[in-house]
Amino acid sequence: MNHTPRLIARLIMARFRSLRWRLTAFYLGLLAVLLLVGGVAQYFAAREVLFRTNAQVLTSEYAAVLTAFRKQNVNRPATALRALILSNQFSSELASRHTSAAIFDVNGGRVAQAPATLSATEDVPTLTTQQYLDAISGGPKSYYIATSGDGSTHLLVLNVIRNGTKALGLAQLSIPTDEIDQTLRADRQLAIIGSLLVLLVALLLSPLIVGRALRPLEQVSATAGALAAGDYKQRVAVPHTSDEIGKLALAFNQMAAGIDQAFELRRQSEEEMRHFVSDASHELRTPLTSIAGYIDVLGRRETVDPPTLQASLSAMQQESSRMTRLVNDLLTLTRFESGTTPQRQRLQLDTFLNQALDELSLRARGVTEFREIQSGITVDADPEALRRVVNNLAQNALKYAAGAEQRWSVFSVNGRAAIRLEDTGPGISRQDLPHVFERFYRGDTARDRSAGGSGLGLAIAKSIVEAHNGSIEAQSEPGKGATITAWLPLATKS
Ligand code: ATP
Ligand code: MG
Repeated sequence: MNHTPRLIARLIMARFRSLRWRLTAFYLGLLAVLLLVGGVAQYFAAREVLFRTNAQVLTSEYAAVLTAFRKQNVNRPATALRALILSNQFSSELASRHTSAAIFDVNGGRVAQAPATLSATEDVPTLTTQQYLDAISGGPKSYYIATSGDGSTHLLVLNVIRNGTKALGLAQLSIPTDEIDQTLRADRQLAIIGSLLVLLVALLLSPLIVGRALRPLEQVSATAGALAAGDYKQRVAVPHTSDEIGKLALAFNQMAAGIDQAFELRRQSEEEMRHFVSDASHELRTPLTSIAGYIDVLGRRETVDPPTLQASLSAMQQESSRMTRLVNDLLTLTRFESGTTPQRQRLQLDTFLNQALDELSLRARGVTEFREIQSGITVDADPEALRRVVNNLAQNALKYAAGAEQRWSVFSVNGRAAIRLEDTGPGISRQDLPHVFERFYRGDTARDRSAGGSGLGLAIAKSIVEAHNGSIEAQSEPGKGATITAWLPLATKS
């Protein structure tokens, strides 16, 4: 029972905790305060203007009556005129239907009054004696407000009556303020109704406007949810504005694209890894099956003649050394591909390559070999690994371009050093060329060959060169030979 109001309160709170409602409430509150302050200021300004203009009218009325009165009594002696001005005669001239008048002497005492519409018993509204004395000595204010005996308020204007520079007394003109009050009341009502209407319109429109402005934010949070749930292709519609929300949407999309790319890369590398593992298992299974076959055959026989035994053992040895080579190749490949930095040292490429080729003793193997090795080119590299690259290239040329010429060269272009091997063999076919650096990739010719490798030679060369921040490329014109070039960054001068 007791829970229901609390639940409703919590629902309302939850609603108002949203940015949209808080912004709306904030702007409505601000608008209400501004309307209130503006309304109050406008009211007092209007009141002041009304009082002042009424006071001015009274003052000019007084001036006109005084001039006319002086003109009427121009023939009287000065003392008589002075007495007349300080009498009821002048005050009744000043008074009219709305205006009541009173005359005060220099001591602030009332000497005459003319309450046009008031009964004789009632007095005109008056100020304190001190205020009258102040008005005589220091000049009157533009208007005064006083309350009369019956509680009604009046607007009062004081005028000092002078004879030359000498003050004779004060003439007070007053009107009831009820007309002004009525105008002000109407003004006030208009302001209140107007403000309420403005607030109502704002109340109706601002949730729409704020909601519209915040819609991209809602979209961003929905899209973030989709991203979190694994839909990396989701993007936010970027508004055509360059405001904060537009920038947020743009930044969000960039982030989403980054995540998408990262996951795509991961997916690809997982895919590659799966391929690699399955290829490697496949390659390892072949020699194992072969060894198992020999063991099986030997096991079935009661007696094995020595030549058969010898042949089987040497075949098994071949298979096992093939497997060892394969496992070593795989280890090298993973070592360089896993990003271990090579043990670099400064190498003079000419001495290095000459030495490596001499060790291979290609001429002794019947190869026609040329060297165009520029001197003075240095690189920072792991000599062991680089020798591996040279060996792999040489082995390929020996295998696939048997009896052809080999042209080895070292040169540098644009801050890069190159080791190049050109052969005049059959070359690499067009469909093989883009794949020769892939792991386990063997060309058609290589596949047929019984002594064919496992297709890791060029992949290893590539991983080594790339670990040295270099690159490797193959060119070939089928029938005319193949060219493999390994590029390495030149050693920095120190
Ligand atoms: P492994 O090097 O592991 O013994 P492989 O030599 O078959 O095996 P890679 O060295 O990676 O593997 O070479 C890939 C393929 O590129 C080869 O199978 C072959 O078809 C082709 N190839 C490489 N070098 C040459 C070359 N000089 N002439 C013609 N074809 C070549
Ligand atoms: Mg090879």
